[in-house]
Amino acid sequence: RIAAVDGDAGSGVHAFLHVDAEGALAQARASDERRAAGAPLHALDGVPIAVKDVLATTGLPTTCGSRILEGWVPPYDATVVAKLKAAGLPILGKTNMDEFAMGSSTEHSAYGPTRNPWDLTRIPGGSGGGSAAAVAAYEAPLAIGTDTGGSIRQPGAVTGTVGVKPTYGAVSRYGLVALANSLDQVGPVTRTVLDSALLQDLIGGHDPRDSTSIPQELPSLVDAARQGATGDLTGLKVGVVKELSGDGWQPGVKARFDETVALLVDAGAEVVEVSCPNIVHAIAAYYLVLPAECSSNLAKFDAMRYGRRVLPEGVDAPSAEEVMRASRDAGFGDEVKRRIIIGTYALSSGYYDAYYGQAQKIRTLIARDFDAAFEQVDVLVSPTAPTTAFKLGEKLDDPLAMYAGDLATIPANLAGIPGISVPAGLADEDGLPVGFQVLAPAMADDRVYRVGAAVE
Ligand code: GLN
Repeated sequence: RIAAVDGDAGSGVHAFLHVDAEGALAQARASDERRAAGAPLHALDGVPIAVKDVLATTGLPTTCGSRILEGWVPPYDATVVAKLKAAGLPILGKTNMDEFAMGSSTEHSAYGPTRNPWDLTRIPGGSGGGSAAAVAAYEAPLAIGTDTGGSIRQPGAVTGTVGVKPTYGAVSRYGLVALANSLDQVGPVTRTVLDSALLQDLIGGHDPRDSTSIPQELPSLVDAARQGATGDLTGLKVGVVKELSGDGWQPGVKARFDETVALLVDAGAEVVEVSCPNIVHAIAAYYLVLPAECSSNLAKFDAMRYGRRVLPEGVDAPSAEEVMRASRDAGFGDEVKRRIIIGTYALSSGYYDAYYGQAQKIRTLIARDFDAAFEQVDVLVSPTAPTTAFKLGEKLDDPLAMYAGDLATIPANLAGIPGISVPAGLADEDGLPVGFQVLAPAMADDRVYRVGAAVE
């Protein structure tokens, strides 16, 4: 299937940056042997999976969609990858992404964009467009993504797949190349809510190698998905986030959202409107917190320790600084440079309090808005993204327009709470998929699975 539809940077879906057919086949054969020998098997043993190219994989290139890591092969597995291997899931390869996970369209990949399988002239969302497109195009039944501001949920929404951002700290970040440490989470991208539950149950749990990993078990997510699939939500209180369901949303997105809310009512849930006033500032706060963290994280790409080294032209014996400058200039794309500049500025002395400090305060206010909302309701709902998949190139020269599409997904990362995007049908005006988002309090990931399974 990958050979039939994936193509390359110039044509096809281009969900994969690297396919490991031989490795995956060997793992599949080993699974068959375990089955034949009657060994106890994990439910997903033998089910192939695609992994976003931001997680370290022994023996497989890990580029983060960047030229600066071209050719880098990690000497170790991310904890999530090690868990997949231990449970017997063959790893198909590494999926395309916006460079260092910065973007909402996968157009910022240094290796060419991924295309939306529903319409190859449109974006598959981002930054994890490769993982979502691989699942939507039946190239992989399961995929792993990462979500710092929506990069699992928004690609899920625009490709008609299920995407989950777990509670911050519920899935190990060991071996995940950090974009913004305080926002990043690893999570599943699948075709059904039950598949995502199986996957999060497998990859989640405490990891002593990640100091932010939560030393506490989540309730069974498979049980929650099965409970939701009965279609009975009697007694559940649902809040429609007022700030995320008004004007400015594509009519077809709004229509599918309203219908899905009506389904919740039919299932016995009580639906009320809830206000989270500070989330209108989420994008502004995020685009200070994130650049601050990523400008610091990306300092390690100095051409001395990893990846690509570029020597400055016309310099006989370049200094270390000249090599770093030439390598970073050639190795990083424009969006990465933009965020390094913003982050460095926001953290510099004299500006720190005015920008970074203020953004952290807004972050706290948003978390408090959610706390207050969850005193009244069990879950919050909204559309996942304001529009369906836009055309390739449409927002590439307008960073602010690109950023605005994350309004509904970013607040959950700022607050560390879990969220799911489930397919809610197709918009009337363009026939493209619409996503329905469910948010819950930290550690109550079971609720997003229960409600997601009830409406999918
Ligand atoms: N689109 C957002 C950004 O560009 C989110 C990215 C992400 O979740 N990795 O930062």
